[in-house]
Amino acid sequence: MLAKTLSKTFGLSFDAQPAAFTWAVSLRIWKAGFSPRGASAPHLYYNNEMRRTAAVFAVFALALALALASREPQTDSRLKHATRRAEQNGWIWVHLEGSPSDIGYQHGYLLASEIRDTLQTVSLEMTHDEKKDWQFFREKAQSMLWPHVDAEYRAELQGIADGAVAHGVKLDVWDVVALNAWLEMSYFDKWDARQHDLPSPSATPEHCSAFVATGSYTTDGRVVIAHNNWTSYQTGERWNIIFDIAPAQGNHFLMDGMAGLIHSGDDFGVNSAGMMITETTISHFTGFDPGGVPEFVRARKAMQYSASIDDFARIMKEGNNGGYANNWLVADRKTNEIASLELGLKNVTLNRTRDGYFVGSNFPVNEKLVREETDFDPKNSSDSANARHARWLQLMEQNKGKIDARAAERFLADHFDTFENKVDPDERTLCGHIDKSPRGALPWAGPYAPVGAVQSKVSDAAMAEGMTLRAALGHSCGIGFKAAGHLSKHTEFAWERPALRDMPSRPWTTFSAQ
Ligand SMILES: [Zn+2]
Repeated sequence: MLAKTLSKTFGLSFDAQPAAFTWAVSLRIWKAGFSPRGASAPHLYYNNEMRRTAAVFAVFALALALALASREPQTDSRLKHATRRAEQNGWIWVHLEGSPSDIGYQHGYLLASEIRDTLQTVSLEMTHDEKKDWQFFREKAQSMLWPHVDAEYRAELQGIADGAVAHGVKLDVWDVVALNAWLEMSYFDKWDARQHDLPSPSATPEHCSAFVATGSYTTDGRVVIAHNNWTSYQTGERWNIIFDIAPAQGNHFLMDGMAGLIHSGDDFGVNSAGMMITETTISHFTGFDPGGVPEFVRARKAMQYSASIDDFARIMKEGNNGGYANNWLVADRKTNEIASLELGLKNVTLNRTRDGYFVGSNFPVNEKLVREETDFDPKNSSDSANARHARWLQLMEQNKGKIDARAAERFLADHFDTFENKVDPDERTLCGHIDKSPRGALPWAGPYAPVGAVQSKVSDAAMAEGMTLRAALGHSCGIGFKAAGHLSKHTEFAWERPALRDMPSRPWTTFSAQ
């Protein structure tokens, strides 16, 4: 149903089966008296000429099917070191290993059906929110982004497309690049509208609550990091992949993510060089450089190649295009140093400490950045970013010396609204429930929008040494979300019906690299 709608609207084509299987089915239908495409010849008369043609075609089709089967991707040597485990509390863990193109192929092949589903959902949301058709994003992927993508990641993106196609999904590399850029395209749109004196098609989304702490704030004096992802529930339910990636170059890393993305997207991960990485977006941000390096490339490169806070800051700043502008919270478990890199386009600030914490809830920090690159009001205590900031400060001070991974899990499920001064799960609580708020979180999300915290992750220095993180899908507080009931009450979100699913609250689960 969704595939049909999207196919009609955006010209996307989705095929559920591998090519060899499709050929076999087509041949069977054709033999039964319908043309292979079923379009114009309802009946075939089996005169001698046609019998001969049919025989020739059958031999040709059989040969083709055998040729394809002989290249059966399951025995493809590129898949030898790749693994996909059975789903665990909603998460799909995959191990990818090798050259950039092999990693891409493994990703595309093992997660083909999830890539199709994610692409359908993200394209539905982008075309609705940005008021542009999918072809627009494909063209921008090719003309604006691709020239600034390193060869290594070009090979991986092409590999994803090749692997997905080999497993029966019809897409190409421009679909994959546009999907990878889905979090930064609204920044381009906002900038582009300004160039032409047009109203902005949509507000840049405001994602996530996070902290990183060390020294006298944590139980063992070492680092603790935690993050919950805020997004639409329809996309958030699909942010359920644990990527264990061992690339030929750079460090081994473990991160959460979405099928089809070479980066984490909500940005939580640990690498074998000791880096622990997360972020929250900068609210009400405006700015974009179409000649810069896409954020998704820099974020992935930093996850793979950073071995220090200096490395991380250098990689994120190099070619900064301003897309998906974040305040990055990072830790180096080797030194127990933590940092906040507030990465605006014009204003970039790196703060670091070995004793303290940094919190993120989408509030901008640097006053010059607030003034020059946002229209954010830091004094509005009813604003979600400011209310959650106030709550983080309370939790950090109240729990000084007692912060560990279990405490982090509690914080991410916190429902204290500092503006109302009471427990009330809504748009102002660290565990965000915008679907319960009559105010919404404007300008990003309207009243009762099915948007908020969708999944959570934590790690600490000891876990990161073992390349381990803990993760929970859905709101981690125990409150589930039911799609049908919500849509029947709030019909303005009916456009999400093809993609919006129930989002149960699932238990915390431990994942490690292979
Ligand atoms: Zn909650």
